[in-house]
Amino acid sequence: MKKVITYSLPALTLILLVGCNDGVLTPTLETELSTDTGEVSNAAESNSYEVDSTKFDLGTSGSVTEVACTLSNGATSTCYQVTISGFPSDRTELGPFCPQTTSTTAENSGKWFDDGVLYDLTGEFIRNLDLFYGDSSWSLYNKDTGEVNITDTQTACEAAARPDVDAQYNNYCVQCEISYYSGSSGEGISSTYLIPTQPVPRSSIGSVDRGSVGVAFNGVTLDAAAPTEAILSAYTIAAFDDCVGHVNPFAGYHYHGANHGEGTCPAVAFEVDGHGGAFGYAMDGYAIHTMLNENGEEESDLDTCRGHTDDTRGYHYHSAGPGENLFIGCFAGETAQ
Ligand SMILES: [Zn+2]
Ligand SMILES: [Zn+2]
Repeated sequence: MKKVITYSLPALTLILLVGCNDGVLTPTLETELSTDTGEVSNAAESNSYEVDSTKFDLGTSGSVTEVACTLSNGATSTCYQVTISGFPSDRTELGPFCPQTTSTTAENSGKWFDDGVLYDLTGEFIRNLDLFYGDSSWSLYNKDTGEVNITDTQTACEAAARPDVDAQYNNYCVQCEISYYSGSSGEGISSTYLIPTQPVPRSSIGSVDRGSVGVAFNGVTLDAAAPTEAILSAYTIAAFDDCVGHVNPFAGYHYHGANHGEGTCPAVAFEVDGHGGAFGYAMDGYAIHTMLNENGEEESDLDTCRGHTDDTRGYHYHSAGPGENLFIGCFAGETAQ
């Protein structure tokens, strides 16, 4: 792996290339003008590492190849073309999502988030939605039988899992089965993404409002924020499983949060120095690590993109909390066009 180290000096920023790739030094040259204080303006410019494509475990139908690409700043570069199967390589099944009845416990149901908090989507939670949201129009269950209204066919899920929810699915717990979208591979919806092989810092931050924010090593896309306003205004709950993932007809199975505590989805090992472990790459090629370190602490020096730099890892991100409907705050690096 090639390591690019930048030393910040008062008058200039000097970049050294250490190591090589198959004996050939990649001509990476980044020159940065110093500010008056001699500090680079963007932490991402301090140092960075090449993407390590071997960290991806994409299952039998996923793949990573190196291709030419054009970055968001118009520069030509090389990218990893990452094709995912749409099914996490470290699991055999998805869900559970919606609780079947108002007495279903956390063990047999998934999650929902609100205002930064990840909740167990239990039958009791469904029963109390009117109180939770302070709106008596919430009623996701049959008051006689206790059965929860669930979109349990492909037609129902597709009518409900879209921005303009079909009115007949107001007051439904929405879930789509991955089996509706299984291709010949028997998995999910295949998608292809381009990730720069070497992150390139950008001068102004990039928005993470749309599309995919990154790809987890297990081959699941980290999606932009779920449109919770549209979901809630239709009196629907777009149920997640315990890994804060769910299925829609467009992206297949995708994540809206990182739930990597002990025994969760999947537990990510801490690094040898106790730092939170990486679980994926953002679309700009910087690694995304868990929110907390082994002492349960969040890093204190994160920038608005939720990134920071250290000597061991270069610039990298730390995910937001599992209920925040967010992974990173913005892109600090150029993405592929
Ligand atoms: Zn979603
Ligand atoms: Zn860190």
